[in-house]
Amino acid sequence: MRLARFGNDRLGLVEGDAIRDVTAALDVLPSYRYPLPPGDMLVANLAAIRDRVCALAPDAVACPVSDVGLRSPLANPGKLVAAPLNYQKHLDEVRANADLHHNNAINTIDRTGLFLKATSSLAGAGDGIALDHLERRTDHEIELAIVIGTRAKRVSPADALSVVAGYCIGLDISLRGPEERSFRKSIDSYTILGPYLVTADEVGSPGDLDVCLAVNGEVRQRSNTKDLILGVPELVAYASSFYTLHPGDVILTGTPEGVGPIFPGDVIDATIQRVGTMRVDVRGA
Ligand code: MN
Repeated sequence: MRLARFGNDRLGLVEGDAIRDVTAALDVLPSYRYPLPPGDMLVANLAAIRDRVCALAPDAVACPVSDVGLRSPLANPGKLVAAPLNYQKHLDEVRANADLHHNNAINTIDRTGLFLKATSSLAGAGDGIALDHLERRTDHEIELAIVIGTRAKRVSPADALSVVAGYCIGLDISLRGPEERSFRKSIDSYTILGPYLVTADEVGSPGDLDVCLAVNGEVRQRSNTKDLILGVPELVAYASSFYTLHPGDVILTGTPEGVGPIFPGDVIDATIQRVGTMRVDVRGA
């Protein structure tokens, strides 16, 4: 199933080029009192949501996906976890351009560990990227994004895929400079998730997915998730060996080689096989 959030907090079921408005399915969510349980409410109740979406879909109003503004498919993830330098060729290009990266924490992932991006940096494909600090270089990074489905702590790689709800395309927009990754990469709109949440059953094995990013029609990044140093099961296991993972938590798996600068006015086309394609506009903040 492909679930989108669009317009003014509408829930959509995407089928081919059409989107059906199934916002009424949100009525199955429990009504909570403060304090809210950890995690994203939609993902925590995904089974009930899916059943209701299926029941509503035949009579739901449809329109072309291209007619709606896509928001981040997750509204309230508890944390955005990200993997640094998780493709060998990207590690090589960063090492070859160490000056550009201010020699900033260039290490293999087993030494660096993971990092967190602020949830306030999250935006959807239709929101676009609002570039800030225009005097400095900012790069695009396309990454397969894992969406956690159930609470998990110290899950083994063998069991890791059982706690995954689905996948999105992630853009880990990165201001270059000397600061910590978590600070440079947490500017508003610097985490794009989209175009929708694709449930794990539709994606199948995440270990052999083509990944492609173009800027203004020119391909900059082209790779495959089989080149990940830590694959999806290993990353989920690694993250859960430090954090408790909650429904809706996101793990950005790292970007392949070919990162490059973006500027206001650029148009990014990002595609991951079996997950989707999204167009994201870049503008000034
Ligand atoms: Mn990244």
